[in-house]
Amino acid sequence: MNGTIAIEGGRLIDPAAGVDEPLDLLLEAGHVRAIEKPGAFRSADVARRIDARKCWVVPGLIDLHCHLREPGYEYKETVATGTAAAVAGGFTAVACMANTNPVNDSAAVTRFILERAAEAGLARVYPIGALSQGLAGERLAEIAEMHDAGIVAVSDDGKPVADAGLMRHALEYCAMFSIPVIDHAEDPGLAAGGAMHEGRTSIRLGLKGIPAAAEEVMVSRDIALAELTGGRLHIAHASTRGSVALVRTAKARGARVTAEATPHHFTLTDQAVAEYDGNAKMNPPLREAEDRDALRDALADGTIDAIATDHAPHHRDEKEVEFDNAAFGIVGLETALPLSLRLVEESLLKPLDWVRRLSTAPAEILGVAGGTLNAGVVADVTVVDPQAEWRVEASALKSRSKNSPFLGWTMKGRAICTLVGGRIVYEAPRK
Ligand SMILES: [Zn+2]
Repeated sequence: MNGTIAIEGGRLIDPAAGVDEPLDLLLEAGHVRAIEKPGAFRSADVARRIDARKCWVVPGLIDLHCHLREPGYEYKETVATGTAAAVAGGFTAVACMANTNPVNDSAAVTRFILERAAEAGLARVYPIGALSQGLAGERLAEIAEMHDAGIVAVSDDGKPVADAGLMRHALEYCAMFSIPVIDHAEDPGLAAGGAMHEGRTSIRLGLKGIPAAAEEVMVSRDIALAELTGGRLHIAHASTRGSVALVRTAKARGARVTAEATPHHFTLTDQAVAEYDGNAKMNPPLREAEDRDALRDALADGTIDAIATDHAPHHRDEKEVEFDNAAFGIVGLETALPLSLRLVEESLLKPLDWVRRLSTAPAEILGVAGGTLNAGVVADVTVVDPQAEWRVEASALKSRSKNSPFLGWTMKGRAICTLVGGRIVYEAPRK
């Protein structure tokens, strides 16, 4: 199964090495064996040649925020279906949140998820441990034991950490393991009962809103706590211009804070809710055009380090109900690549920066392998055709759930081949 593979004719883009030029790759025994000028491996004895002409060859994309739903919610997604969606979307690794049932707040659940991932044999899976026992926000979870079992970060994502003292302890404790605390920044009192962004559109639609301040007061609090403790804080799904400004000034002071934005937040606005479509409901909610534009600028200047999907599968019965009662969240693993490539098309990101936001930075934030393609590194590679056009069809999505506001959209750009550890785990049908 570890046959030698040559990837030929492509444009290698590796921000960690500062490389963006035509280069061929030779993969052997799960690692990058050599990187040479085009044609160098023409006479090499290989098991397989991948034709990458007109394609980008990049370090495998890494999603540092998704929900795989297993254990407990297998009707929405499993580790197997979620990682099938991941590799089809060009992701070679995903970090999955702890809000499963049972919650991933113990080494036993962490090990269970890793066993499921090994059985599936698709994307690498990095479990994120719960910050608090049972996500109850009262006592720290068994972070040391989970760290031994393989977690790469802690988070109560799905829920905020209301108690500032608990957040302080989490930041202090996680600093001992050099892992980040991932912050679902939402003030529960300000957000209570809200179904969408609070603004002109929510008033017009008669829906209760979640104000931008619900996010910003927590981003502000947690930056202060990161600076107090020296812990590493990562802001999940930043959605408002105020959050961007807080992260920007914190970074300028040297605070240990990083941030991610999702494709839906930098693509859509709260106008998408106008049809009362449950697939436009997520938390944090879609915001205003000024917020979306601030996220795009922050991705361009590096204030926001990474693009993450917040892939959140739900069954259609949980979405095709009154907007107030619809579940929060959308699937994102199979649309993140083309939606983020739009930023390149619009000259907001250079291709090198695009790879940095989707691979190199997530690897650095989580402290995991990948994010670069030097000779010797693990052979997690995504071959991207940036020009390929395709339509988002529910029936073609690998995810068990189809809750996407992008159904029916024509996308440009897709992964044509995804390799994990030098093994082909996904190949798109090629025209
Ligand atoms: Zn969240």
